[in-house]
Parts: sequence; structure tokens; C-alpha cells
Amino acid sequence: MGEVRAELAILEGWGRARRSASVTLTPDSVVDVAGCFANPRAHGLIAHAAGRAYGDCALNDQGSALMTAGLAGIVAFDPDTGIVQVEPGVNFRQLMAEFLPRGFLVPVTPGTGFATIGGAVANDVHGKNHESAGSFGQHVTELDLLTPDGVLRTIGPAPLYPSDEAELFRATCGGLGLTGVITRVAFRMPRVAGPAVRVRVQRIPDLDAFLAALDAAAGATYAVGWIDGTARGAALGRGILETAEPVQGRAPVPRGGLRVPVDFPGWVLSPLSIRAFNEVYFRHVPAGGRTRIAHVGKFFYPLDAIRGWNRIYGKRGFHQFQNVVPFAGGAAALRELLEVIGQSQRASFLAVLKRLGGGIVPPAEAGHLSFAQPGYTLALDFPAGPGIEDLYARLVAITLRHGGRVYLAKDALLDPAAFRQMYPRWAEFRGVLEAVDPKRRLQSDISRRLRLRQAA
Ligand SMILES: Cc1cc2nc3c(=O)[nH]c(=O)nc-3n(C[C@H](O)[C@H](O)[C@H](O)COP(=O)(O)OP(=O)(O)OC[C@H]3O[C@@H](n4cnc5c(N)ncnc54)[C@H](O)[C@@H]3O)c2cc1C
Repeated sequence: MGEVRAELAILEGWGRARRSASVTLTPDSVVDVAGCFANPRAHGLIAHAAGRAYGDCALNDQGSALMTAGLAGIVAFDPDTGIVQVEPGVNFRQLMAEFLPRGFLVPVTPGTGFATIGGAVANDVHGKNHESAGSFGQHVTELDLLTPDGVLRTIGPAPLYPSDEAELFRATCGGLGLTGVITRVAFRMPRVAGPAVRVRVQRIPDLDAFLAALDAAAGATYAVGWIDGTARGAALGRGILETAEPVQGRAPVPRGGLRVPVDFPGWVLSPLSIRAFNEVYFRHVPAGGRTRIAHVGKFFYPLDAIRGWNRIYGKRGFHQFQNVVPFAGGAAALRELLEVIGQSQRASFLAVLKRLGGGIVPPAEAGHLSFAQPGYTLALDFPAGPGIEDLYARLVAITLRHGGRVYLAKDALLDPAAFRQMYPRWAEFRGVLEAVDPKRRLQSDISRRLRLRQAA
């Protein structure tokens, strides 16, 4: 057995609008994780990996945070099945560097390669291919979970796993780290021809045209839209749509690039400068669009080229609002959301619109708190500051009215009542927590804020 280092630290979500004082526990190996449940603090413990969740799901003020990013070993790989087994701190960059040269690619990836596989399961992340590939957890064949009673359980999806294990698996995919600490994940990686994708970029003048283009791109392997959150009137919902298809051939490997060295002062991101930036960005794509060959890593992770980009929002940080609204009525919902956002003059330039599908497993087998459901998903960054709670509440109200939900990985502002309306399987999730963690040793800022352990 190795050592578990304990230190006092202030941890942040990626948005930096939430900070928490915790005792960080850093085990040297996965066998030492069990020791982290000894000597519980009043606020218990939560796993904290690469800290790429924007809100407070990896934070635990006045409690412990189990730092997993260093547990980054690749345990096994079977080239015949494509199944890889990894420790939880392995990240998407590492997997790409290791396996893309051998002709394998992760089935699903979020928009940053720094996120870990443990985090990808606990937030059940989606990528730019959700309609065809579903969420990350839907590719997991089994995983090891250390529950607070000290038992290491191997769990996985039905029908391969018995009902208790399958139920714990459903609670763990998207379960925000509250069912236990994931110590090993096995998932299947599909074969690819190589690192190249053909990327088609289109400039789209307004929301109706954008949704029509996005719908027409539903058969593309990857699709993602950038939306100008500052546009109003006839230009409301204008943006740039990118689709990509894997192709044979070579592509230049993306380079590390820039680093943001300091917190930017507030005036850098004034409404005026953001509007000006968005105008230039919108027009950098020629009216007839453009096609290029790119490395898939550059297409997946455009923001990773700028290390520490979250510092551009200054010391106060920012919030990301991400929701999904059903396709039926989705256009009206997005119009309402974008009108409120445009009027607020608070949107930053980072704004994404995608389609999500129904997943690749039956809905009843999906994670209890998994975010993705069929519909349009909109994600926007807003600098933190006075009035942000009101704006967020208005966006939440519109989302609820249209039968949508907010993504908990991005959230730091939702309230318990809205959460329960958005996530109707919360009671099933809570039931699993009561069974595996009756002493409430696993807790986090989000579990307390959304009262995830409280009945009705
Ligand atoms: C630039 C950027 C783009 C992004 N794009 C997307 C996107 O396209 N799609 C998407 O779905 N998400 C996206 N995200 C969100 C991000 O991918 C997820 O929040 C992901 O879970 C972060 O992983 P992490 O390793 O940083 O985990 P952390 O942020 O450290 O933790 C996230 C959650 O996972 C839990 N956790 C971590 N490790 C373990 C473990 N070993 N056992 C149990 N629980 C664990 C934590 O307790 C916490 O609840 C993006 C984030 C950024 C910064």
C-alpha cells in the first residue's frame, strides 16, 4: 500500500465562479483509494478529477476531495474487440495519443481532451456525434466502483449484469460521483481509418436556417454549431455550422499553442467587444462555406489549444448554461432563449448549438441523471456578476416550460424544485444512494445544493 497525501486546498469548477475549501486526498495508486473513506469529515468525500466540470459537482466545501487525475494507467487493450480498460484518471488526450496511431478512436468525447474517463462516466458526457453514438456511458462494458462500505463492485449494463449491478450502473453513469469512486472503466473503441476528418463549415444567417441546416446534417458523423448569442432581430440565431466525416489520409497534428497567463480585467469582455468579435468571427467563413481536412483532435478540442482560457473571464469567473429542449417546439424555445440572452447583453462568444438523439440503449437503461435526451442543446457562457442568477432563472423557466432540462455538469445555480421537474428519475437515483451509502459519506456541493439525498 502506498501513501495518500492530504492537503488543504481551494478547488474550483472550470467556470471559476464556485470555489470550495477541501482536504484533498491524493492516492498514489487505485489500491489506495479505499483508505480515503477512513476518517470521514462532516461533509464527506467526492472524487475530483481534471476539474473540467464547470459548476460544483466535483467540489465539496468543508469536506474531502479525492484527487483521481494521477490514477492514469491503461490497464489492458484487446485489439480484436477494441475494448480498453483504464484507470479513472486517464484522459481523452492520452487515449488519442496512444490509440489513434493504432487505428482506434474513442466512441464519444466531450469538447476537451483534458477530461478524464472517470469524469466522462460520472457526467455521462456526450460529443458531437450523440445522435449516432449516444453518451459515453452507453459504451462502457463494465466498471469497478468502490462504494463507501469499502466493497469493490464490478458493475455494468443490463442484460449482461444482474439487476442490482445494472441498477447501480444506471445510477453511476451521470451519477456525479455520488455512488462511489470509479477505479476502472472498460469500454469499446471503434476502428478508424486515420486521424483525418473532412470538415465542412457553413455560415448560417438566422435561427430557422440554422435549425434546418442542423436537421439536414443529422446523418453526418459529427455536427456542431456556433451561435452568435449577441445577435438580435433578423439575425437572431445566426452562426456557423461545422460537420465532419472521417477520411483516409494524413492530417497535421495539433500543436499545444497559447496559454492565458493572467486573469483578464473585466473590460476585455464588454458587450461591445464581444459583439465586435462575434461579427468578425461570423464573417471569417465565406458566404459559400468552406471545406478543409483537419486532424480529428483539432476538430474535437478547438479550445484546448489555449491553455487556461477560463481565465479570460477574470477573477469572478463565469457560468455556463447548457440545456436541451425537445425537437417538438424546439425552435420556439430556442427563439425565446436567444431573445432573452440577446437582450441581456451578457452572452460571451462561446456558444454552442447541437442536436442530441435518443441514445443507443433503451431509455430505461440510460443513467438516472444522464442529461442527453432527444432535442436541441444550447450552451452559452456568461461572465459571473450581479444579475446572473436572474438571467439563469429566466433561462431555466423557459427550459422547463418547453419540457427541457439543464446539464448538471455545467450547472452551479439550479434549485432543487427545478431539478426534480427536469430529472423525473431522481427518486430512483436517490433510492440507490440510500442503499449503497446510507451514512452519506459521498457528498458534494451539488448534492447539498440540489438536496439529492432528501426524500420528496
Ligand atoms: C472546454 C470544455 C468542453 C466541454 N465539452 C463537453 C461536451 O461536449 N459534452 C459534455 O458532455 N461535457 C463537456 N464538458 C464537460 C466535461 O467534459 C465534463 O464535466 C467531464 O465530466 C469533466 O471531466 P473531469 O475529468 O474534469 O471531471 P471533474 O470535473 O473533476 O468531475 C466531474 C464529475 O465526475 C466525478 N468523478 C470524476 N472522477 C470520478 C471517479 N473516478 N469516480 C467517481 N466520480 C468521478 C466528480 O465527482 C464530478 O461529479 C466540457 C468541458 C470543458 C471545460
